[in-house]
Amino acid sequence: MSSEANTPVLPNCIRLPLPEDELLEVTAKAKDYAIMHGAAMRSKTAFSPDSLNFAPFVLVPSSFPRKEFEKAVALQPIINRLMHNVAHDEEFITTTLAETIKVDEFTANLFNIYRKVLAHGFTQAYSIGLLRSDYMAHVYEDCAIKQVEINTVASSFAGIATQLVPQQKFVLSELGHADKLHNMPNNNALAGLCDGMVKAWDIYGKPKAVILFIIEDVSYNICDQRFHEFYIRETYPHIKVLRRTLTDVHKEGKLGQSKELLLGNLEVAVIYFRAGYEPGHYHSQAEWDARYLMETSLAIKCPSIHYHLAGTKKVQQALAQPAVLERFINDPDEIKAVGKIFTGLYSLDDNEAGNATYEMALRTPEKFVLKPQREGGGNNVYGVDIPDALKRMSRVERSAWILMDLIHPPLTKGYMVRPGGDMPPQIVDMVSELGIFGVVIGDAEHIVHNYQAGHMLRTKLSTANEGGVAAGLGALDSPYLIDSDDEQN
Ligand code: ADP
Ligand code: MG
Repeated sequence: MSSEANTPVLPNCIRLPLPEDELLEVTAKAKDYAIMHGAAMRSKTAFSPDSLNFAPFVLVPSSFPRKEFEKAVALQPIINRLMHNVAHDEEFITTTLAETIKVDEFTANLFNIYRKVLAHGFTQAYSIGLLRSDYMAHVYEDCAIKQVEINTVASSFAGIATQLVPQQKFVLSELGHADKLHNMPNNNALAGLCDGMVKAWDIYGKPKAVILFIIEDVSYNICDQRFHEFYIRETYPHIKVLRRTLTDVHKEGKLGQSKELLLGNLEVAVIYFRAGYEPGHYHSQAEWDARYLMETSLAIKCPSIHYHLAGTKKVQQALAQPAVLERFINDPDEIKAVGKIFTGLYSLDDNEAGNATYEMALRTPEKFVLKPQREGGGNNVYGVDIPDALKRMSRVERSAWILMDLIHPPLTKGYMVRPGGDMPPQIVDMVSELGIFGVVIGDAEHIVHNYQAGHMLRTKLSTANEGGVAAGLGALDSPYLIDSDDEQN
């Protein structure tokens, strides 16, 4: 998605470029600050469980429109409630995913677990959602935020994002701009999400029960996960966190008499999935069996299977259709506000509407992004690559995908710092994606906790389609809030 030549550039928080000697010095300090405060990851190229690299970061915080940031924050409880209601609407989930599961094996496997759980009744009525709603400002609508996606599973970076605000404040202060710190909103994402897990643990109500993190075989994003684990132990010394892969749970897990999930002699109160959202996490039937075992257990799942399905791209697409929100939200003002964050999302189901989408994508592919039902980055098809991708699919296969209008974010200019990258770093053109975290806990009838829980900003090169932080072109960042009348520094 290379940005167009006339894309507006947001004013920077400080004047750039920095003199080279100052830049070298502050970048070196920021790298050490990051490592020492855990804004770090395991290396993919030289993995060692004994060492960390700093996570790629943007040196000076990127500007983001204050009004739009505040809008996203204010919307989060409404979005939490929306997703909670969607997750509990069996009919909506079933009809929405009906075509998709015919051709998408992974979603079909998830859906099968859902079907089986429905048939036997939910052992645990409560769910906890730790959500992250992702946005970009859209330059064609006065930088109004548009939702990129909503994550209901493994919403990550709350831990590191929390550390990055003090890091970038440190950098601004080092550069003599302590007067600007007030434009960087505080971020309590880590506490917000972990306190949510503990609220679910309280609902479970067994003092000796543990919180189980489901993890990948190898965790590169280890600090982000450990932040959660360590915060919980430090803040609630009586609560233990266990880390297990799906394979481990298959080997060790069993259900007790009241369907409580037992790992050895430990009972699990809450399961927090940081894995299980992509096919590669399920090596064999064993991992699917483990997922099913957990879903049928009494443990409170984050997310439970219906929450996971509610976060699929297909459901997001269905929600953006006219009049669908009315099914889940009562207040007309809220419907209007949520409706405005949706950009065009189009079905590719094997029917008239889906065929019209197909024709439209072939005519003007540069306006769109094509998305499958996958999480974790690197799965989408962009612009001019769309026609070939679509033509390779049968009509039925297309229903595993959705089409979405491309959002055009404004540019910012800044220094992106990566392990092994140029020193001093060069000024690059970048675009940012804001994530707002939310916590929602409840059962089909009631929501007992619902709050906004901090934010994260991910910034990528403007020429990159995607900005995975670990994958290569993205970096962690925090918003520096600007008003529309702010002048270029
Ligand atoms: P994933 O579940 O893989 O994170 P996303 O829908 O978030 O899937 O897409 C991955 C990335 O692709 C986003 O972080 C963003 O950089 C880019 N992207 C996705 N949708 C759009 C869009 N409509 N317009 C512009 N960029 C997009
Ligand atoms: Mg995403």
